[in-house]
Amino acid sequence: MNLLIMGAPGAGKGTQASRIAARHDIPAISTGSIFRENIANGTQLGLQVKQIMDAGQLVSDEITDAIVADRLTHDDAANGWLLDGYPRNLHQVEALDELLAASDLSLDAVISLLVDEDELVERLLKRAEIEGRSDDNEETIRARMKVYSEETEPLLSTYSDRGLLVEVTGVGSVDEVTEQILGALDEFLAAKN
Ligand code: AMP
Repeated sequence: MNLLIMGAPGAGKGTQASRIAARHDIPAISTGSIFRENIANGTQLGLQVKQIMDAGQLVSDEITDAIVADRLTHDDAANGWLLDGYPRNLHQVEALDELLAASDLSLDAVISLLVDEDELVERLLKRAEIEGRSDDNEETIRARMKVYSEETEPLLSTYSDRGLLVEVTGVGSVDEVTEQILGALDEFLAAKN
């Protein structure tokens, strides 16, 4: 099963992605996590992307598309995957379309996690304290929100037009949201088949 999860920064995508992926026995692949690991390990890629991430901007499509193309060839992704944080703009949607078409694959569903905007900023600032992510300060958060609404949010209608969107309102505890997503996804997939 090939899935995407989309949502504003702070919507809880990462947490939910791991849980959904575990339930469906596929890897959750987060481009943001791949970049953070590279920064932590001081790799060439990490050095290249740190400044742009800290500014809340998007890493170049060239770099990001190549990372995803490579990651999807790993053994653990042979039976499907859940992409978290990719695609993030229209160019990346097209790059993913081409990548999938080349392997005769397609997307099964795109999960959209909706969270009230005031709550998002509050959650992000709290996460900054707990995880110490250097891109979780207020200025960067604002920039990331802007990038999200300008570049990524429009993709929801792209996937909605394709009949792939599964919308879930991320209210309640983490467990409750997980159950809502898994339920909505099962229902969607059952209706499709
Ligand atoms: P995330 O963990 O998904 O919130 O991503 C953290 C940061 O990594 C983003 O603010 C971007 O700087 C970078 N990033 C993650 N995914 C992408 C992507 N698909 N395209 C470009 N930049 C990305």
